[in-house]
Amino acid sequence: MIRTGIVRKVDDLGRIIVPVELRRVLDVSVGDPMQFFVDQKSIIVQRYEPGCVFCGAIEDTIPFKGKKVCRRCAAAAVPGHGTPPTAD
Ligand SMILES: [Zn+2]
Repeated sequence: MIRTGIVRKVDDLGRIIVPVELRRVLDVSVGDPMQFFVDQKSIIVQRYEPGCVFCGAIEDTIPFKGKKVCRRCAAAAVPGHGTPPTAD
């Protein structure tokens, strides 16, 4: 995690302005959907990128008919495709 040195106050409605410098660097534009994650005492805001339609995994997904499916779910649905599921 990189400290930017930028501090913003939360307003009466709970809003925080995302500094223009960060929006430019991270290519965030007006109207882009953003999602929130919580990690202990931190709030992480990222561009919303839907994950696997079955399990929600964000990484290692492949497109399928306009949706994303992770290789693990693809392998479970169609044997011989993707990465076989691991025992867990
Ligand atoms: Zn999946």
